[in-house]
Amino acid sequence: DPTTAPAPLTFAVTKNLAAATPAAREEILANPGFGTNFTDHMVDICWSQKGGWHRPRVQPYGPISLSPAAAVLHYGQEIFEGIKAYRHADGSIHTFRPEENARRLQRSARRMALPELPVEHFLQSLRELVAVDGDWVPAGADQSLYLRPFMFAKEAFLGVRPAEKVAYYVIASPAGAYFKGGVTPVKIWLSEDYARAGKGGTGAAKTGGNYAASLLPQAQAYEQGCDQVVFLDEDGNVEELGGMNVVFVKKDGTLVTPQSESILAGITRDSILQLAEDRGHRVERRAVSLAEWRDGVASGDIVEVFACGTAAVVTPIGALKTPDFEDAQPSGTLALELRQHLTDIQYGRAEDTHGWLVRL
Ligand code: PMP
Repeated sequence: DPTTAPAPLTFAVTKNLAAATPAAREEILANPGFGTNFTDHMVDICWSQKGGWHRPRVQPYGPISLSPAAAVLHYGQEIFEGIKAYRHADGSIHTFRPEENARRLQRSARRMALPELPVEHFLQSLRELVAVDGDWVPAGADQSLYLRPFMFAKEAFLGVRPAEKVAYYVIASPAGAYFKGGVTPVKIWLSEDYARAGKGGTGAAKTGGNYAASLLPQAQAYEQGCDQVVFLDEDGNVEELGGMNVVFVKKDGTLVTPQSESILAGITRDSILQLAEDRGHRVERRAVSLAEWRDGVASGDIVEVFACGTAAVVTPIGALKTPDFEDAQPSGTLALELRQHLTDIQYGRAEDTHGWLVRL
């Protein structure tokens, strides 16, 4: 019965005796970068076909022991999430719409034939980790603790079928600005040779393979002096960037964002569009062709283009480049206003009218 919450798990907590000293931690928090430093602990829950979810633990952060035959290493049966914890001025720690990440992890799990972690267990796993590693949530401007829940097939079996043994973990990494340039506009490379996802594929799931497929085009983007890649579908419609959704702002104030079954339903995008609607903007979720983008910019009908996601929040797009052309993108103020409003809510500086914050 999905309306009945499962009983809370009882986590066995093993403290890390080699945890970073407060001085070492503060040095990292002064300049956290993104995704390179990790907290002292991690959460680990096992799942098996026979036993369901079991053995929930908080343990010292460290290497995972796996059979070389573990299915994830061969067939990529893996999913993950990305969500931040924010420190408010009063010291309290909050996360943002975590039920949405929990439900997206469940959708990813269904697509990748992995077990669905109950929403309550997902929330509890974040709480348990922050309960021991809360000192790792930085207090500086635009800083946060990036939480990375992930799940993978650990059964040692080389046959191709859904694994009957699965592991769920949460690790955490203190984070500063995602792009080196902060919120200065980014340059986007349009990949003409590669797709990220196809019809009926795994594009809507947050699964490692999608990101593996984006690495070569992303490397080409860097070679071309660009920060990110944008992918098209087979009909020439705009999909998304390697790790962010795209939004177009029209002259009449309408916000348009690609609707497709093969892109990730971003929680940042959903929140930004809600804030825009609150201000009276119209929002359209529909197919957007590359031609519509280019013509709109050329005619002045599109006045702003921005990317959004948990890691980089909202970042204006300043240029679109391909082997054939380079289009400068118009710049406006709406993207940065919405970014400011969203981060003001996340950091407790603006009223949370939608009840998006969850205190950890
Ligand atoms: N698209 C892709 C492919 C992503 O990896 C992400 C990051 N999770 C997003 C969009 C943005 O999603 P969110 O706003 O939920 O972080």
